[in-house]
Amino acid sequence: MEEKSSKRGAATASVHGGELRQQEANAITTPIYQTSTFWFQNSREVIDYQEGKTKREEYGRYGNPTWRAVERKLSELEGGEETVLFASGMCAATTTFLALLDPGSHLIVTSDCYRRTRQFIEEYLVRMGVEVSVIEPGNFDEFEAALTDQTRLFFTESPTNPYLRVTDVPRFCERAHAQGVRVIIDSTFATPVNHKPLEDGADLVLHSATKYLGGHNDLLAGTISGPAELVEPIRKALGVLGGIIDSHGAWLLLRGLKTLELRMQRHNENGMAMARFLESHPKVRQVWYPGLESHTDHQTASNLMHGFGGVVTFEIETDLDGAIRFIDHTKIPYQAPSLGGVESLIELPVTMSYWDYTAEQRQSWGITDSLVRLACGIESTDDLISDMDQALSNV
Ligand SMILES: *Cc1c(COP(=O)(O)O)cnc(C)c1O
Repeated sequence: MEEKSSKRGAATASVHGGELRQQEANAITTPIYQTSTFWFQNSREVIDYQEGKTKREEYGRYGNPTWRAVERKLSELEGGEETVLFASGMCAATTTFLALLDPGSHLIVTSDCYRRTRQFIEEYLVRMGVEVSVIEPGNFDEFEAALTDQTRLFFTESPTNPYLRVTDVPRFCERAHAQGVRVIIDSTFATPVNHKPLEDGADLVLHSATKYLGGHNDLLAGTISGPAELVEPIRKALGVLGGIIDSHGAWLLLRGLKTLELRMQRHNENGMAMARFLESHPKVRQVWYPGLESHTDHQTASNLMHGFGGVVTFEIETDLDGAIRFIDHTKIPYQAPSLGGVESLIELPVTMSYWDYTAEQRQSWGITDSLVRLACGIESTDDLISDMDQALSNV
């Protein structure tokens, strides 16, 4: 007996979505099913299962009741039929690409992109004979020009990392679908609280659940949601490739998700207030935040999104040494990669994620020496702002 309604609000779905109302011993929470396999009473049960007459679990690589609760919760939150859970966001992306792309097929991606996704596409998919075109995020003309008869997928983050470009999902989907091209949105930076790409026409929505969905900087996970017809081949590929989450990680994600709507409200408030503060600060050259009127995609973001998240990207009026002085003087955020948890995190992309690239590569992606990515957590807004203010006085 599962509580389900597609009409209830995101806060209710965060708490109750996917949870079985009746648990063993009338417990309220879903247990951690710590088992690698599931037994059958007799051969009749085995055969009924094989013939699809019963729905149940079989072996741990194909599913576990703790994951199922997370999958159902996410499906309700995203408005999708099915969800599959993975060991990480990267695992969700690689399994999905491997499941849906054949040699000779063509993929369109955007230049502002999580760097490991970019690496998988350029180093691995290309080696497997997949053709790839890279377009500027949000550039519809470039997108149309890149489409060929072999194009199977368009993949983009929205908002993107680190410049927070927002894709006009309905427009790109309409054009893609006219040619039978599927659209996958990496919605990690938005979450279903701020944007539901499936409702805007996307075919699949992907998350690094390590970020806002888990929300506590304590787990790694990935998800993909969409119609059963598209999700099932990906689930089958996961059963072969094997990148599954363990049930304890799934349970932490289930617990984290219960406060998703509440946490996102504070992330949105902190992101917006921080972006406005930084934009007015004399030592800050530029701020990228889709909630600001100055952002290229502000109009699109305002049309599609309910909030703009906790990540604010900005460039300080200084060189690398000044940027290092700034970041080393911050007291509340941890200097660390990642985002989306209750603790604020801050990084200089140049020293963190992009250190092992050449200056030319960094320049081509717009990663300058004084670029900062601040992922606001859920601390008090005033405390975060005064911390940034004192750290900026050390530039
Ligand atoms: C972190 C991230 C990923 C990768 O997810 P992991 O859970 O770290 O494997 C993919 N896409 C985006 C936008 C991310 O921020």
